[in-house]
Amino acid sequence: MSITCEILGAPGRDNALYVRVDSGQAVTRLLFDCGEGCLSMVPIADLLQTDHLFLSHLHMDHISGFDSFFRHVFNRDSRPNHIWGPVGTTAILHHRFQGFLWNLHADMTGTWYVHDVSESTVSTSRFELHDAFTSRSDEGCCSREHVLVDQGQCTIAAHVMNHGTPSLAYVVREHARTNIDTSRLAELGLQPGPWMKQLKDTAAGTSSVMINGVSHSIATLRDSLVSETPGDSLAYLTDFLLDEAATTYLADVLQGCGTMVCEAQYRNSDRELSLKNFHMTTGTVGELARQADVGRLLLLHLSQRYSPHEWREMLTEVQAVFPRASYAETWQI
Ligand SMILES: [Zn+2]
Ligand SMILES: [Zn+2]
Repeated sequence: MSITCEILGAPGRDNALYVRVDSGQAVTRLLFDCGEGCLSMVPIADLLQTDHLFLSHLHMDHISGFDSFFRHVFNRDSRPNHIWGPVGTTAILHHRFQGFLWNLHADMTGTWYVHDVSESTVSTSRFELHDAFTSRSDEGCCSREHVLVDQGQCTIAAHVMNHGTPSLAYVVREHARTNIDTSRLAELGLQPGPWMKQLKDTAAGTSSVMINGVSHSIATLRDSLVSETPGDSLAYLTDFLLDEAATTYLADVLQGCGTMVCEAQYRNSDRELSLKNFHMTTGTVGELARQADVGRLLLLHLSQRYSPHEWREMLTEVQAVFPRASYAETWQI
């Protein structure tokens, strides 16, 4: 599996998710939400290389730990700084950027792009450290499909859900991998070499390749040597109402997803509360995982209204519907 994830924070406390997508040549690092105290679990080397911060929404339990993130990367200019969230994210983050004393900033560099994601558009604003984050520069608004980012080795898509306020559900999908069956090379009388790269590069549009001075058709070589393996995938779902319409919609979007990381805020017996607060129950979460036929389900964002004993019962409730459900291995429940 080349997408790995780590649930941050403790059971009943704020949670977040750290995701690494490892292609073998490069690692993409993604942070989903920033609850209080969550980032102490992430090595600073990783925080410094985080490619994107994706916020589901900006309730306190998902943004309280933002300062811990920002203090490590506020002046980062080694890579672009991107934050994504629902409409209203930029206005709140502008306050967060300005919530410090800045007086040595004039010679510092650090550019931040904050993206407000609606059903059909992405509006981007830019903020500069050398300006002490005073100005909000409009970088434009573009219409969007679901995919927000193509990071080279994976895409990240967002779906707007209903939490009484918009909350974004995210799906990370690794691109399909192209594999060359090297065991067949000898059969075809071919030597391995740099030409194998050209076989993988479908975008190049070349029709033939020279191997030891002989021209070969790329299409023929692909037919006999190349196979595609579907990429890994992961969904991060928290803080929204999972009614029948949302379940049907997401079951389609997530069909066959490798890992579904999802809140389990309320137990089945508290369905009324879950509706009132636009959250999920153990039953609705299990049902979505079952309908989407995901590889595994990892639960987070448990309510403190329950005891650890009840959390154990809640896992059993989910597993009754979807057996491949668990808490993080590190959670001693
Ligand atoms: Zn929450
Ligand atoms: Zn919330």
